[in-house]
Amino acid sequence: MSDTHDNTREMAQADLDRLVESGRDIHLHKYLAETDQALTNALAEKYRDVVPPSRIEAILALPTQFEGRERFDQALGKAGGKPGEGTRVLGYSRFDTEQAHVATDHLEIPKTIAHERLHQLSDPRAVEALGQPLYEGVTEDLAIDAIGSESPPGLDRCYPTERAVAHEMRDLAGSDAVERAYFAGDSSELRQRLDERLGPGGMERIQHQITELTEKP
Ligand SMILES: [Zn+2]
Repeated sequence: MSDTHDNTREMAQADLDRLVESGRDIHLHKYLAETDQALTNALAEKYRDVVPPSRIEAILALPTQFEGRERFDQALGKAGGKPGEGTRVLGYSRFDTEQAHVATDHLEIPKTIAHERLHQLSDPRAVEALGQPLYEGVTEDLAIDAIGSESPPGLDRCYPTERAVAHEMRDLAGSDAVERAYFAGDSSELRQRLDERLGPGGMERIQHQITELTEKP
């Protein structure tokens, strides 16, 4: 009878393992959903004076989709992205009308959530007003601000040059002018302040700085 007994114990152990694994998975996704909600609420509260209320409402109703690498890359491909080309994509978002996606196979999940949620909160005209590299730099700069710290040494930084230049621009022109350009699509004050500090074409000088620093030798 001992064979039967052992067999039962093995099955029980396998069932238990599965149960622990699915419990862990449920726990992780609960934690991710709560982190997404907390960060999005904090961003909505922080920028409520500059973001149109309808955009805030729209993204609060759209929880972020968390996915393992395989599913994330599939979703990214369907959205027109190019997974697996050089660097690993950690998250993406397109509009305030669809969910942001964040991959779960890295250690930068909260900052990636903040980064994608900021994209969703940004004005559709901000990309053009700032230019793509500076737009990404501002997004990352505000995401680091939201999290309260930079990535620890050893972890890959996202858009490090773009972020550094965007941070410098924020010091020069002030947060309010940057926020108006990013969240409300009105870059007139930002341009004016940069012209005052850097001379005519101040914004172009900033954009050019990124190009120079990121150009491959
Ligand atoms: Zn981005």
